[in-house]
Amino acid sequence: MAMDAVTSGRVKITPERYAKSYLDWLGEKRDWPVSRQLWWGHRIPVWHKRVNFDGTNWETCVFIFTEDEVTSFAQRIVPTDGGSLQSDSVSELRGEHDLYVCLGNGETWPEGERLGFTRDPEVLDTWFSSALWPHSTLGWPEKTPELGYFYPTSVLITSRDIITLWVARMVLTGLNNVGEVPFRQVFIHPKILDGYGETMSKSKGNGVDPLDIVDKFGADSLRYGLTSLTTETQDVRMPVQFECPHCQALIDQTKKNRELPKVACSKCGKEFSTQWARTDADKAIPRAAVVSERFEVARNFMNKLWNAARFSLINLEGYSPAPVNVNELPVEDRWLLSRLSTVTQEVTAAIEAFHYADAAKLLYDFAWDEFCSFYVEISKSRLQDEAAKPNAQRVLAHTLDVLLRLLHPIMPFITEEIWHNLGQLAPKRGIPEPYEATQHVIIAPWPRPDSSHQDKATEARFATFQAALAALREIRSRQNIPPRNKVEFCIKCDAATAALLQPMAAYFQSMANATATGFGPSVVPPPMASKSAVSGMEIFVDMKDFIDKPAEIAKNEKEEQKLLGLIKGKEAKLGNASFVDRAPANVVETERAGLAQYQEQLASIRAALAALRA
Ligand SMILES: [Zn+2]
Repeated sequence: MAMDAVTSGRVKITPERYAKSYLDWLGEKRDWPVSRQLWWGHRIPVWHKRVNFDGTNWETCVFIFTEDEVTSFAQRIVPTDGGSLQSDSVSELRGEHDLYVCLGNGETWPEGERLGFTRDPEVLDTWFSSALWPHSTLGWPEKTPELGYFYPTSVLITSRDIITLWVARMVLTGLNNVGEVPFRQVFIHPKILDGYGETMSKSKGNGVDPLDIVDKFGADSLRYGLTSLTTETQDVRMPVQFECPHCQALIDQTKKNRELPKVACSKCGKEFSTQWARTDADKAIPRAAVVSERFEVARNFMNKLWNAARFSLINLEGYSPAPVNVNELPVEDRWLLSRLSTVTQEVTAAIEAFHYADAAKLLYDFAWDEFCSFYVEISKSRLQDEAAKPNAQRVLAHTLDVLLRLLHPIMPFITEEIWHNLGQLAPKRGIPEPYEATQHVIIAPWPRPDSSHQDKATEARFATFQAALAALREIRSRQNIPPRNKVEFCIKCDAATAALLQPMAAYFQSMANATATGFGPSVVPPPMASKSAVSGMEIFVDMKDFIDKPAEIAKNEKEEQKLLGLIKGKEAKLGNASFVDRAPANVVETERAGLAQYQEQLASIRAALAALRA
């Protein structure tokens, strides 16, 4: 029956390969003799003794207890005749009684055993009680409203090591006790290993203390970092380091130093303590946090988002809600809304399929590259323009709203904070019709993609534009051209790409201080150009204003003389009748090709010189 639940699809296990471990385990089950005990259970921490009280032997039975303990002890005495005992009547006890003493789990009680108490020989199968969890927590065996409403639950997320120990047993007992599977979906997450591929464990000392990560990077960075690690792979490796509390140097954790109570920093030489510090002297040494660079990326993302949100909020001053006609918006707004809709759709699909790392990556790329770095920058000029401002603000407020809702499950704290600030300036927001936003993002509905906003042509146009813009900026920085200096550029590309780029000329101007002189297959690069090639485009920036002319002329003249010499040599060789007649045809052909190449190079050097002298 428990196997049917999975084979029939009533319980779906993701990734699918884990369904096999589940079925294999159940498939080889045999009848279980009732006499057999599980050896790995917890021993029941209850001691028993039958005592015949005669009014004088009370003290000898309980002398090891303090006065307070006598009171609680009395509550645990079960008189053989049933009923209950009052603590003040303990010393009045007469006759035969069964005494049961229950101590905390894991405790031993040698004193009691000396007094003749014996420990219960049974063990508790820990997985048996765990198996009851999905229904026992909801009030079963009573038919509570909670059981009716919440059972079966939706998703169980767990580690692969307990598929047989726990998942299979929950299904078994759920079907037996309630007649229904305990959950519809099981997601098996990857296991985080250290940099050496070993399971992180407290006893090995190779783990990352989440509180260290929270202290150093923030709770959202911890959560984002872990989400971005949650792929469908079996294991993920996370190399860990000690951060020296004296000089902040990162010291790699090795199999040796991870077990030491104190370590000397290899940079500053001072000692720091680890989680293994036990002596007072070791504990007095400042402790090093255990960190991983995986969380650094996450923290930078938080900062980027925070700064972009702050920029947006500053620019929402004077915001007024009103309906927006998307078709009348400028192309960059339609592009952003289209991307927002596409990303909402993709993130929702990724989460529904348990592709958490994909969801994190999609949001990271959209939030960082498209919203923060690109849209926020492109909208700066419109936010200064009184006529264009109201709609720019509405698009900004709406996009931030949707982005925060999408990011909230992965970064709950920072999104809640920004949401609150956004609510102060733009409590009513939304496109096309504004509506009252919820007070907290945690109770806001999950965004639905507005497919009418999706425009693949505009998305393609911006993707091409962004690639060209990045190449332009790369040339600027490679050539040390300050941002305030205007540049001219042209792009050699096919006609379709040119058609995408042509309408973006004004954006090249505003975002890279760059004037386009042409797009297309017939573009002629300027004689002195710096070039970059990306995704089928060749981007040429005219360098005529950015070079040291006399030095460049001298360099080219030297090159011209060198080429003239080489050409003379080739011409002499090819003019020699005995060489041309005697040498093999292919050798002569190579010489001719070499000559043609030198002549071509000479022509381009001379064109460059003409431009430099102009
Ligand atoms: Zn140090």
